[in-house]
Order: sequence, then C-alpha cells, then structure tokens
Amino acid sequence: MSSVESLPQLQKEIFNKISSNKTDDLKTILAANKVKVDFIDENGMSPLQHACYKGNREIVQMLLDHGANTNECQHVHEYTALHFAALSGNADLCNLLLAHGAKLSATNSVGRTAAQMAAFVGNHNCVVAINNFIPKADIDYYIKPQGLQTEPMLHPHIADNFHLFIMQVNVNPVRVVLNLQKFLGLIDNLPMIQKVLEAMRQRKMTRDQETNEVMAFKYHYLSCVVAEVIKCHKQQGALKAEKNDNVKGIEDKKSDVIELLVKKFLKCKSDGTFEYQELFLKETVREFQYRNSRIFRQMVATLASTDPPSAISVIEAAINGQQVFNDYSQICITCGEEKATKKCSKCKSVQYCDRECQRLHWFIHKKICNRSSQSNTSHVKVSDSSNE
Ligand SMILES: [Zn+2]
Ligand SMILES: [Zn+2]
Repeated sequence: MSSVESLPQLQKEIFNKISSNKTDDLKTILAANKVKVDFIDENGMSPLQHACYKGNREIVQMLLDHGANTNECQHVHEYTALHFAALSGNADLCNLLLAHGAKLSATNSVGRTAAQMAAFVGNHNCVVAINNFIPKADIDYYIKPQGLQTEPMLHPHIADNFHLFIMQVNVNPVRVVLNLQKFLGLIDNLPMIQKVLEAMRQRKMTRDQETNEVMAFKYHYLSCVVAEVIKCHKQQGALKAEKNDNVKGIEDKKSDVIELLVKKFLKCKSDGTFEYQELFLKETVREFQYRNSRIFRQMVATLASTDPPSAISVIEAAINGQQVFNDYSQICITCGEEKATKKCSKCKSVQYCDRECQRLHWFIHKKICNRSSQSNTSHVKVSDSSNE
C-alpha cells in the first residue's frame, strides 16, 4: 500500500501488519496501545475490512474483540467487511462476521450483496454459508412464551443444538435424519421441533419485512423430514402393538427408527436411482404451500422436465444454489457430506464420513463390493484414505 503516508504512524503500522498477516505483531501493538480500530485508509477501508480481504480469521477475531464494528462502511465502492470476507473465500470468516451482526442484505455501489459477490468469483462455500446463516435472535423468539402462551414453543436447553441443526448446509435427507440423532436433545422433542420449524417457515413468508423464499422452503423441507421420522416412529409402534410385542419397549427404540428410515432413503432401484427417497422428496416440494413463489415454480418445472435431475439435486440447488464440487470422490456416498476421507478398505471405490455412514450403507454396497473382489468376507472395515 503506497499512499498511506498521510496516516499516523501507528495506523500505518497496523495496516502493514494486517496486509502481511503478522498476527502476533498486531496482537502486541493492539495490547500496547489504546487505539480505536475504526480508522480508514485512503480508500475508506478499515483494518477489519483489510483483514477480511486477507481472509485472516484470527486477525478478524482480534479486531472484533478490540471493538471493530462489522457494519461500519466508508469504503469508496461501499464494500462491507462481509463483502471482503466473501471475496476471500473463507466461509468460517463469513460465519464469524454474521454471528457478530454483519448485515447480509448490505449492497455495494453496484447493488451486489456479499453472497452475490461470492457467487460472482466462484466462492460457493461462502455463498452457502451466508445464505444458510440464521441469527441466534431468530431462535430466541421461540424460547420465551409469546403472547398468551404459558410455555415457550422451544425448550431453551435444546436451542443451541436446534440452531446448529437448521444452519447445516448439507440437506441430504440421510444427513438431516442422522443430525436429529447427532445433536443431543432433538430426537426426544420431534413434535416440538416440527412446530417451531413450521412457525419459522411462516414468519419467513409473512411477518418478516424482507420475505425469504429460500429459507422458508428450507424450514418447510426440514419440518417434512422431522414429520417423516415421527410418522416412521408411529408406524413402528403400531406394528409392534399389532404383534403384541412389548409396547413399553417402543420409547427407547428411537435409534432403530432413525436407522430404518435412513435405509429406506438409501434403497435403490436396479438402475441405481433412489425409490423411496425420490418419492418423499418430490412430495415435500409439492407440499410447499407458497405456490406463487419463484422457488416453488422453478423446482416443479425442473422436476417436470424431460429427463429431470434427481429430486435431491433439485432441492439442493434451490436451497444452496448450483454447486460445483471440486472433488466428487470426497463426497460421502451415504449422507452427501463433503470431505469424507474414509473409504471401504476392501474395494476402495466408495468414500464415507465415518464407520456409522459405512455401516448404514453396507446393505447396498455389499452387493457391489463383493462383485469387485474375490473373497466373500461379509464384514469390511473402513480405512483412512489419507494413509494410502
Ligand atoms: Zn456420511
Ligand atoms: Zn467396498
């Protein structure tokens, strides 16, 4: 940076440390000087904006701790800190700023939001992180009784896990179902979670000043998956009661219901396409009640086209935008999670997140795995592909 000479020496030094990623040096300077970090350079850029542009999460955190304002914007082209973070490609950094109140709707001088700038430069991870961000305040509303309610809609002790659940960017139904089990407290409160999701969906389309079709659909979709788990649970209960089985035992078999549903979702036809999952997902699209919304019309049109893509890819694209994976071989075949590093130790042709995903997929994979190998061992372990 050549023209910062007019700035006081200390400010110049701070900008220099940020642009050269000298985290420790900056820490020392900030600790030794009672300096406010809201000054700007000749382009109107603050230290926070510079750190965001560099994608340096540690420095950004340091500046936030030092009182930097995420929405303060004097940049010549009206780029906010979030715009710069989105351009840097660091999705964690975007989440950090959003958690500190960065406004997602702020636009630059050419009318582009941070998410749009991220999409423009191909930082899909940032687009997804920004679009799926939900302020904690949105949840807080439900943990206090509203109006005439005597009880809150959501138990406060599951609020944090519920927040994590709805911010998950992977919307593969298998992952959603597994997450209900993974985030403690959720599986025991399914009807409550479903009600809150429906209320949040409605708020996104009616009460908010800016309606958000995408989030409304995401909440609708998640509530459909939760409803499916509840339905599956009831069916299992009815089945057991019919068989005069131990009815008392039903309650503690929630993990069995999860497993049953995951396997239903994974079951394929002979051509490899999902049968039950496909029907279920198309139904969730059809059940979205905002028929005039762009997202609804777009999904229905795509699904009705000749040779349509799978329902999950239509839903994924609707919620997260068209995604270009860098590396398809790193996608978990069970739940669609990225960066799955374990692979089947026997055929090494499929990737999984962990043993649980491998175990759940084995009833399908064993047919292919055995075919591609001479031995007929029925149990195959997953190995860490990074060792190979
Ligand atoms: Zn997985
Ligand atoms: Zn295998």
